[in-house]
Amino acid sequence: MNQEIYDFIGIGIGPYNLGLAALTENVEELDGIFFDQTPRMEWHPGMLIEGTDLQVPFMADLVTFADPTNKYSYLNYLRDHKRLYKFFFYQKLEIPRYEYNHYLQWASDHIKGLYFGKKVVDVRNESNQQESLYKVVVKDMETGEETFYYCRHVVMATGAKPMILDSMAGFPENDVLHTSRYVYEKENLLKSSHITVVGSGQSAAEVFYDLLEERENKEFKLTWFTRSEGIFQLEAAKIGQEFFGPDYVNYFHGLDFEKRKEALDTLEPLRNGIDYSTLNGIYELLYHYSSGERNPNITIQPLTEVNEITKDDSAYTLHCEQWQKEDKFEYKSDKVILATGYQPNIPEWFNERFAEEIHWEDDKRFEVSRNYRLHFKDQRENHFYVVTNLEHSHGTAATNLGLAVQRNMEIINDILGREAYNTTQKGIFQQFEMDS
Ligand SMILES: Cc1cc2nc3c(=O)[nH]c(=O)nc-3n(C[C@H](O)[C@H](O)[C@H](O)COP(=O)(O)OP(=O)(O)OC[C@H]3O[C@@H](n4cnc5c(N)ncnc54)[C@H](O)[C@@H]3O)c2cc1C
Repeated sequence: MNQEIYDFIGIGIGPYNLGLAALTENVEELDGIFFDQTPRMEWHPGMLIEGTDLQVPFMADLVTFADPTNKYSYLNYLRDHKRLYKFFFYQKLEIPRYEYNHYLQWASDHIKGLYFGKKVVDVRNESNQQESLYKVVVKDMETGEETFYYCRHVVMATGAKPMILDSMAGFPENDVLHTSRYVYEKENLLKSSHITVVGSGQSAAEVFYDLLEERENKEFKLTWFTRSEGIFQLEAAKIGQEFFGPDYVNYFHGLDFEKRKEALDTLEPLRNGIDYSTLNGIYELLYHYSSGERNPNITIQPLTEVNEITKDDSAYTLHCEQWQKEDKFEYKSDKVILATGYQPNIPEWFNERFAEEIHWEDDKRFEVSRNYRLHFKDQRENHFYVVTNLEHSHGTAATNLGLAVQRNMEIINDILGREAYNTTQKGIFQQFEMDS
């Protein structure tokens, strides 16, 4: 084996691994590279709706919680783009989602060791005479050519993928689409006379709100169905937000699996719901559109499950049930937008290579240590870190950008076996158990 051995390889370059790259760039003992299958850094491009904000304060950038003086901070991005004064007068902690994406692109243009257009198609155990390694097989998305690299550790940050029920899949994407494609299809959607949104999370509300705003210039019918009991606000009081801090992760990780599942259910209002300003904006527009005895031509109905979609010549039929009254009905729409959420994106090769070698909590959820290592049956020195599919192990903040830097600091310290970054906690007002 004459090839270079990297200390680690990052799979996926979203905010999580981009932050890891930023924080390891100047750690001399760590030599890592990162691959992403997409041609360039893009953060949920299909949901970059004009006017939407990041749902966490700008401090949840790539580096600030580890080192506010790091050159990849959001404030330095603003300085670089001569926007510090504008931001100062803007006086908001939540930044435009469009600008957050631009910030990530700026960082990815400067950070070394990032390779786009490269999909990781396999990871295998491999060893030389001295140590156990991973062999990472990478496919060039343009040429199809495969190359491989060796590393001591892997950090898998492959994010989430759209969730679409089988009974709603397989239609042309310009007619029945997941919210993750909304921006790409918007122009085409606006040519139709009836659009239905299915689901009631933040994405559903943002898409509904955006379409509602378009109604000012164009007549079309707009429908919103959701299985939920109502269209409700996300719990956002400050003390509740402390559940997204590292102290709660410590506490949560120490619980047994059943207790963790129960806790996730209890914390549902913190995890799922709609931002107050989005809900408020929707209601205000509805009020305006209905003033002066006008009919806004809008249907909003919770308690309604869409079970299947079928197509006939003129339109799509949604097979629905108002589940509380057990009332089944059919509903026609030209276009359907599925705000049916996301699920962890675990690459195809993962189970084939590692399922038998690691411990699982149930059939979908692997065991993950506090420091984000997969729990292998053997006592290996070379670790496989995961920062996707972590809700069951690390709690409600698993997909929250606010904790991404903390996770990366913990992984870096774990790989190095020393504290390169200070991860001391107890930074919040509440505690979750008595100190013993
Ligand atoms: C629309 C939307 C808005 C959100 N807004 C917020 C918010 O405001 N605040 C918040 O805290 N959280 C938010 N989240 C949740 C979360 O913070 C983000 O999803 C975040 O992008 C997660 O970062 P990531 O790096 O894990 O994954 P991603 O950003 O999804 O990146 C994963 C990357 O891995 C790549 N990849 C996957 N498989 C492979 C492979 N085999 N080889 C190479 N590359 C691969 C993908 O191409 C992708 O670029 C939002 C989520 C969504 C869907």
